[in-house]
Amino acid sequence: SEFVKEEFSRGTLRTKVVEDIMTSLKDCFMLSAEAVLDFNTMSEIMQCGYTRIPVYEEERSNIVDMVYVKDLAMVDPEDCTPLNTIIKFYNHPLHFVFNDTKLDAVLEEFKKGKSQMAMVQKVNNEGDGDPFYEVLGLVTLGDVIEEIIKSE
Ligand code: ATP
Ligand code: ATP
Repeated sequence: SEFVKEEFSRGTLRTKVVEDIMTSLKDCFMLSAEAVLDFNTMSEIMQCGYTRIPVYEEERSNIVDMVYVKDLAMVDPEDCTPLNTIIKFYNHPLHFVFNDTKLDAVLEEFKKGKSQMAMVQKVNNEGDGDPFYEVLGLVTLGDVIEEIIKSE
């Protein structure tokens, strides 16, 4: 019945966490902050098919920014514009959620309209050193919606 279906999708949202549905860091299409927007880089970006692209510094686990593909609409590859110039101009906020955040909580965050994408991080206290934040991947509103649809 409708009631059972509704309860089931609510159950999914209450029990599943972002880590269950995220895109792992190794599968993320990202750009280095050092990148130059030449013809090759622009082609790769256009071909990746994603709307939002995390930007890292030095290591892929060090996410510092985010760029929208549409930010690049006016960029001429001939100019070889540094990605940094674009990033600083738009300065989009970057959002983080913890890996164990329940889907209903992250859905609330997305609904507030701040962003449709968040980086997933966990507190890594496995080693001998101080605990540190480790980025595991990214999650989008689309991922949460897909999970709701799957459970219906
Ligand atoms: P939109 O639908 O808002 O235009 P999109 O198609 O780029 O955005 P989503 O629909 O939000 O992306 O997500 C589709 C899938 O791609 C999701 O599983 C999401 O985790 C993943 N995804 C989004 N951005 C990236 C990225 N930069 N690299 C790898 N995977 C991504
Ligand atoms: P703390 O007060 O524990 O030192 P913070 O100062 O690092 O935290 P902010 O800089 O305010 O926190 O960032 C907000 C959140 O985003 C934090 O959870 C932080 O870990 C995370 N964050 C910020 N930058 C990065 C990054 N480059 N990689 C991973 N997580 C980040």
